[in-house]
Amino acid sequence: MSSDLQRHIVIVGGGIIGCTTAYYLCSHPAFAASNTKVTLIEASVRGVAQGASGKAGGLVAKWAYPKELVDVSFPEHVRLAEAHGGAQRWGWRFVGCGSWEGRGEPTQDMHTDAGGGDHTSLEKTHGLDDDWGARKRREAGLPDDLDWVRADLTDGYSPMAPAGATAQVHPYQFTTSMLALAQERGCAFVHGRVTAVDVDAAAARVAGVTYTASADGAAAHTLPATHVVLAAGAWSPRILPALPITGTRAHSVTIRPRPGVALSPYVLFTEIRLPGGPAAAASPELYARPGNELYACGPGDSSALPETVDDVAVDAAACERIRAHVASISPVLRAGTVDRRQACFLPVVSVGGGPIVGEAAKLAKGLVVATGHTCWGICNAPGTAKAVAELIMEGKISCANLKRLQPAVFL
Ligand SMILES: Cc1cc2nc3c(=O)[nH]c(=O)nc-3n(C[C@H](O)[C@H](O)[C@H](O)COP(=O)(O)OP(=O)(O)OC[C@H]3O[C@@H](n4cnc5c(N)ncnc54)[C@H](O)[C@@H]3O)c2cc1C
Repeated sequence: MSSDLQRHIVIVGGGIIGCTTAYYLCSHPAFAASNTKVTLIEASVRGVAQGASGKAGGLVAKWAYPKELVDVSFPEHVRLAEAHGGAQRWGWRFVGCGSWEGRGEPTQDMHTDAGGGDHTSLEKTHGLDDDWGARKRREAGLPDDLDWVRADLTDGYSPMAPAGATAQVHPYQFTTSMLALAQERGCAFVHGRVTAVDVDAAAARVAGVTYTASADGAAAHTLPATHVVLAAGAWSPRILPALPITGTRAHSVTIRPRPGVALSPYVLFTEIRLPGGPAAAASPELYARPGNELYACGPGDSSALPETVDDVAVDAAACERIRAHVASISPVLRAGTVDRRQACFLPVVSVGGGPIVGEAAKLAKGLVVATGHTCWGICNAPGTAKAVAELIMEGKISCANLKRLQPAVFL
C-alpha cells in the first residue's frame, strides 16, 4: 500500500450491501480530502449482484425490521432515488402491498414443460363483463386497480400498511447502479475470491486480504488494507468461520403478462388453497414491477451452499411450481411468458436477530462485518452502508444506535 494513503478500505462481496457501502464511502464528505482508497472485490466471474441481491423481490418498507436500520434506510432510499433518478435507473416507486387469501384454480390446462413462455390459455374469462369484475373486486375487498388476480377466487385482501409506507426497487438495477456511482467517485473493482482476511497479529489489526483471481487460475494475491468490510452474504463464514450465518436457497421466476395487459403496482403476500385437499397450499410472494413484469418467489429449502454464487443450482421443478401457483390465481399471468427461472441464497443469522453490523474489534481492529440481512437486505442496504461509512470515516456510527447488531453480540 502506498504510504501516503490514509486508508485503504477493501470491501469483500459485490451484493447490495457491498456495492451500497462502496457508494457511501466514496460519497462521504471526507473521502476526497482524506486520501482514502476503496476497492470492492467480487468472486463471481459474471460481476456483481449475481446472488440474492440480484434475485430478490425488492420491497422497501417502513414496517420492515430491525427498526433502527429501517428508520435510516427508508429515507435514504427516497433520497438516493431523488438524487440519481432512481425511478428510471432502478425502478424506484411506491407500491400497494397486501395479504391475499383465496383459492387456486386447477391448472391442468397449462403446459408444464420448463421450456418457456408458450403457455396458452383458453381465455374463457375474456367474456366476463367489467361491471361483474368490479363488483366482485369490491366484495372481496380488492383495490379497484388490482385486476391481475381473479376477484372470484379471492377470499380476502387486507392492505399491510398505509399508503406511502411501502416502496420497491429493482434489486439488480439498484445494486449495479450503486457500484457504477461508486466507481464514478473513484472506487476500484477487482474480480477475485477472497480466501482470508490477513491480520497483523502484533498490532491486532487487519493487514489486508488474500484472494485468488479467476483470470489467472489459483494463484494467490494479497491486497493490503487498513480496513476490510466483510459483506459476502451467505458466504461470509467461509472467510470468518466464527460468524453465525447460514444460507437458505430460494427460487423465483419473472413473468410478463399476456400482451396488452399492464400490471398495476402491487406486492401480494398470498395464501393460496390449491385443488388437491386441505393440505395443498402455497404462499408465493408476488411483486408487480416497473417494466411490466411480475416477480414471484417461493419458499426456502435446505440445499447446501455451493462454492461460489456462480455454482448455485436452479431446480426447474421448483420454478415451475411457483409459475403454476401464480397461474392458478391469475389468468393474465397464466397466459404470459416466463423470462427468468433463478435461485439464490438468503444470508440468515442462525442464532436469531441480526443483521450483524459493526467492527469485530475482538478479532482484529479495522475488520467491519456487514452481513446477515435475512429477508430485508434490499430495504436495509442504505442504512447499513451509511453506518459503515460513518464508522470507518468518522470513527463512530451516529446515524443510528446499532448496539444490538454489533459483532460482539454475536461472536
Ligand atoms: C427470494 C428472496 C426474496 C427477497 N426479497 C427481498 C425484498 O423484497 N426486500 C428486501 O429487503 N430483501 C429481500 N431479500 C433479501 C435480500 O436479497 C438479501 O438480504 C440481500 O440481497 C443480501 O445482500 P448481501 O450483499 O449481504 O449478499 P449477496 O447478495 O449474497 O452478495 C454477497 C456477494 O458476495 C460475494 N462473495 C461471496 N464470497 C466471496 C468471496 N470469498 N470473495 C469475494 N466475493 C465473495 C458473492 O459472490 C455475492 O456477490 C430477498 C431474498 C430472497 C432470497
